[in-house]
Amino acid sequence: MGVSANFKGLTKDKMPHELPKAYDPTAIEDHWAGYWVRENLFAVPTPGPNTTSVQNQGLDGQSGGQPFVILLPPPNVTGRLHMGHMLNQTEMDILTRWRRMSGRLALWVPGTDHAGIATQMMVERQLTAEGSSRQHLGREAFVARVWEWRRHYGGAILEQMKRLGVSVDWSREYFTMDERLSLAVREAFVRLYAQGLIYRGAYIVNWCPRCQTAISDLEVVHQEQKGHLWEIKYPVLGDGGKETGEFITVATTRPETMLGDTAVAIHPEDERYLHLHGKKLRLPLMGREIPIVVDPWVSREFGTGAVKVTPAHDPNDFAIGERHHLPSINVMDDRAHINENGGPYKGLDRYVARKKIVADLEAQGLLVAIKDYTNNVGHCDRCKTVVEPRLSTQWFIKIQPLAEKAIAAVKPDAEGNKAIRFTPENYEKIYLEWMTNIHDWCISRQLWWGHRIPAWHCSVCHKITVPQPGSTGDPAACAHCGSDQITQETDVLDTWFSSGLLPVSVFGWPNLTPETRADFDAFYPTALLVTGFDILFFWVARMIMLGCWFAGDVPMPDGSQRSLADSVPFREVYIHALVRDANREKMSKTKGNVIDPIEIVKQYGTDAVRFTLASMASPGTDIAFNVARTEGYRAFANKIWNAARFIFMNVDRAAEVGITVDPSTLGQMPAVAADAPLEARWIVAELHATAAKVNESLENYRYDEAASTIYQFFWGSFCDWYLEIVKLRLDFEGNHVVNGTEGQILRDLKGTRAALTTLVQVFECALRLLSPFMPFLTEELWHAVYDGNPPAKSIALTRFPQASYEVRGAWDTYAQVEMQVLQSLITEVRALRKEIGVEEKAAVPIEVRTDAASRRIAEENHDIIERLARVSEVRFVDQIAAGLSKHSTPQFDVAVIYERTLDVTAERERLTKDIAKYEKGLAAAERQLGNEAFLAKAPAHVVEGLKKQEAETRLLLEKARTALEALPKE
Ligand SMILES: [Zn+2]
Ligand SMILES: [Zn+2]
Repeated sequence: MGVSANFKGLTKDKMPHELPKAYDPTAIEDHWAGYWVRENLFAVPTPGPNTTSVQNQGLDGQSGGQPFVILLPPPNVTGRLHMGHMLNQTEMDILTRWRRMSGRLALWVPGTDHAGIATQMMVERQLTAEGSSRQHLGREAFVARVWEWRRHYGGAILEQMKRLGVSVDWSREYFTMDERLSLAVREAFVRLYAQGLIYRGAYIVNWCPRCQTAISDLEVVHQEQKGHLWEIKYPVLGDGGKETGEFITVATTRPETMLGDTAVAIHPEDERYLHLHGKKLRLPLMGREIPIVVDPWVSREFGTGAVKVTPAHDPNDFAIGERHHLPSINVMDDRAHINENGGPYKGLDRYVARKKIVADLEAQGLLVAIKDYTNNVGHCDRCKTVVEPRLSTQWFIKIQPLAEKAIAAVKPDAEGNKAIRFTPENYEKIYLEWMTNIHDWCISRQLWWGHRIPAWHCSVCHKITVPQPGSTGDPAACAHCGSDQITQETDVLDTWFSSGLLPVSVFGWPNLTPETRADFDAFYPTALLVTGFDILFFWVARMIMLGCWFAGDVPMPDGSQRSLADSVPFREVYIHALVRDANREKMSKTKGNVIDPIEIVKQYGTDAVRFTLASMASPGTDIAFNVARTEGYRAFANKIWNAARFIFMNVDRAAEVGITVDPSTLGQMPAVAADAPLEARWIVAELHATAAKVNESLENYRYDEAASTIYQFFWGSFCDWYLEIVKLRLDFEGNHVVNGTEGQILRDLKGTRAALTTLVQVFECALRLLSPFMPFLTEELWHAVYDGNPPAKSIALTRFPQASYEVRGAWDTYAQVEMQVLQSLITEVRALRKEIGVEEKAAVPIEVRTDAASRRIAEENHDIIERLARVSEVRFVDQIAAGLSKHSTPQFDVAVIYERTLDVTAERERLTKDIAKYEKGLAAAERQLGNEAFLAKAPAHVVEGLKKQEAETRLLLEKARTALEALPKE
């Protein structure tokens, strides 16, 4: 470790460590968030002959193992940070900081998604407010307007991320519509087209009449809705097209679609209709003759067993139409108004047409019944408009070949290895099920904002020209007839087409020449994807399909064929849980329980919010976000702040008497001599054990375990015990004793220096341990430890603590056992003091009955017992004196000797007050425990706690009554 020789911080020529008295997260967080971005701290340059692989990272220029590369799930450019983002980014930042500090080259790539529908809607709303529209502007001007919107507002969510301190490489920030990424989108499309994997076809799509585009199945939200089932009778025709007087009754939830009926289907074995096979019907209102077709798909049990067939407006009917070669008649335009195929209903909105059609049918006596009916209605996820299944011409990817690779990448191979591993593991099954039943992917959207499909239509031969793979520029003429009368396709590509390519495109694909492929060689495949379940199919699955497909064609750096294991976009996927409110309810705008992370951050500081999320995050468990916990973690931060102030104060005092800490002993795992005082040996052993546990927990995505392990160490072991004990060793007054001999002073100095060194070492190391979780607080205090002359630009570029057998005193289990004995003795004495009402400041003798081993520990460390339990003398006895109230543990009995001169009146008053208080508390507890309704609802641990509390109160009440009776009568 290259520590600056100019290490002024711990010497006496300057008053160092000026920390404000109060911990104020806002001030320090704004400062460091800006510093990290300005200093480009987390930038990872493209590896090259002249760059070391860790140019900006790490202290020692050594990086171990594979780079840790991670992509930010790109938020929509229209987005605002919500609690889900905050969890997602906290988890990613903890892992990235931890991996970076553990010696791996860590690269986290940020960016935003152009979010086709969402962004277009946003700008359309603006235009509506201005009394204009996108149609009024025209395509080119509209797209220019969206770009302008993006320049103004598109960076908002990234600015919020900067405030959260995420350790991303801002120099690599991308936008999915960037020229570089757009090139990848075009190349992916033309390659798939050349490979025969893209086709254009008529298909039933989910059409949003508001957004006026096809949307994917995944973007349709189904909601139960009360509606009706209309039963309509269609007249059967006999020879010569004459009505026979017989009818077939069909039922529908969307009567307006009957305008596009081209058949009625029945089950081939349905006996009710056997005599009608091969007959025709007259379609009411339209007068058209339509056939009766037999199809085993029809359910005989449902309704009348006869189904109207509208191939252009229903996916199942479309399939029947294909099987029976029926015409498809589209009766609606893209606003869901009836079009010219709807005869007299032309121009009417679908719901207006519905009313009129039902009325007309009733007038003609063809309406059999109207029944109440609840069905699942699809709504547009973006704008909540009811989706209209509608036949339209779209672009598709033949997904099967891509899906096969994507399945192989997740299924275990013959040796049981998986190229991609899911955590929690159950998502693997969900993914494979979906991937096995996948349909061709409709990639076209009827939007203006997005990547326009690189295909040109010829108005002469009506064929399509798609550029050759590897080409640039737009074609000038039709590839089939040579005509220059060609126009580009107006549709754009589904947003997920471009985001599905991100793992390859952000590292330079498809432009991978020997000169340009350094990033790709170094960083693909990425190590990990951290994301929510909601985009498992939208995004994760598509990245796997497209990544495996295109990266598979890129040779390895040594020119060899790339295996599937090296073609995957990421080696691990971690699916995180949902953040719910404190009552475990899903956050929603309608419920009004949405927590704005930025507001909470303003109130408690980013570090406390991050720690709250981490403390509850583990695979597969939803988080019930509770502000009370955040308040607690802010107190934790404050506790560490105060500890730092105490330490720095002592460092400064030590400097005055010539004691300094050798800076070269910082920045590593502290070692300790075998003859050092117990607390020093103990805290060092605890620190190593804590580091081991935290590393193991993070390895398994147990953020919660890691956080609580650090919390217990820092608050419990370090602040509550070690700091209190070490005060014994930091008594600088002794060094000024005039009468002391030279040797005496030197020995004291040596002990103080050793204590101070361990104190600063352990604190510095604990800051590094906490740093991935609370990056701001630890950055501030770490710089203060070094008093502005730190050995690196940031604590984030130092090493994460690793437990090591090679460090002296790292595994001192004796110290841990001995300390346990002392701790329990001190805890019992403190409890006894409280029970018998010893004044806070009074030092009192204690009696201890114990075995030889524990007695040795207590004797050797009597100064610790005396200080922490305010004990004047430890008396070892064979039997605790009769009349003393004692506490017992397996190792010892202990009693406090305390005789007070009683103010009988005051004591009587106090006890009477106490008794009243206990009685009241007891009554309340009994009332609650007698409440059947409460007991039925309350969780078991709450009831248990209450029972325990009741028993304790009862005990205290009895003691107070006994004490009151024992008081001398006045
Ligand atoms: Zn919509
Ligand atoms: Zn042509």
